[in-house]
Amino acid sequence: MSKNYIDAATATWQECRDFLQRYPFAILPLGATEQHGLHLPQNTDSLIAEALALQVGKQSVGMILPTIPIGYSWVWRDYPGSLTFSFDTFRSVIKDIAVSLGRNGCRVLLIMTTHGANSQPIKYTIRELVDHTPMRVLRAFYPNLNQVMTDADSTAWQPLNFHAEEFETSLMLHLHPDLVDMTKAVSEYPPYSLDYEMSTLPMGALSESGVFGDATVATAEKGEKWFNRCVTNIVKVWEEFLDLPTDESGGLYKIN
Ligand SMILES: [Zn+2]
Repeated sequence: MSKNYIDAATATWQECRDFLQRYPFAILPLGATEQHGLHLPQNTDSLIAEALALQVGKQSVGMILPTIPIGYSWVWRDYPGSLTFSFDTFRSVIKDIAVSLGRNGCRVLLIMTTHGANSQPIKYTIRELVDHTPMRVLRAFYPNLNQVMTDADSTAWQPLNFHAEEFETSLMLHLHPDLVDMTKAVSEYPPYSLDYEMSTLPMGALSESGVFGDATVATAEKGEKWFNRCVTNIVKVWEEFLDLPTDESGGLYKIN
C-alpha cells in the first residue's frame, strides 16, 4: 500500500510520477519573509505553512510542494529584512507552479497560506487558472479561524487581522520554541485608522512594535491545540473539495 503523501522536494521524479498517477493532488504552502516583532523570526509564516502542509498531507492526501518563502508583504516593505514580491510577480510564481504541476498529471491543487496579505493575489490567480487549465484549485487561509481561537485570552486587533500576537506566537512556541524569545514579546493594539482600508496606509505605519495583538499571553499548549484544529479544518475543506470515496481497507482513496 503506497503512502498517501509524498514530499516533492526529497522524492525522486519517478516517485512523484507514481504518486501523481495514483493521487493527482498537490499541496502548495505559501509563506513570507517579513518582520514579526522582536520575539519571532522573519520566517514565522513559512515555518507554520510548512508544518501545516506536512500534517495535512499525512492526515489526508497530496504531494507536498516546497514552501515558497516569500509572498506579498508590501505592508512591511520599510522594515529591513522584510521581502516582498510585487503583486504580479507573486501571481506569476503561483501560476508557473500550477502550470508545472498540470503538465505532469496534477488535477487538484490546494494552495494554503499563513500570511493574510497573500490571500488577495491567490484569489485572483486561481480564478485565471480555472479559466485556462483543467486543474481544480482550492485556497485556504486558516479556515474557520474564529472557531479555532474561541479560547484565546486576547482579541484580534480587528476581526481576522492579527500579526505576531497570541495566535502566531503560540503556534511557534509549539512548533519551534527555540526560535521564540518570549522576553521580548509585547502587547500592542495600534489605533485603528478610518482610512486604513481606504488609502495606501500600511500596517507597518500603524504599529510601533510590529505586533498587532497580544503576544505576551502565548503558550505552547495553546499553540498545539490551535495547530491541530487548523489541520483538522484544512483537511475537512480539502477532502470535501476532493470528494473522493474512502477505501474500506485503510482510509486511502480510490482514484477512478
Ligand atoms: Zn505571520
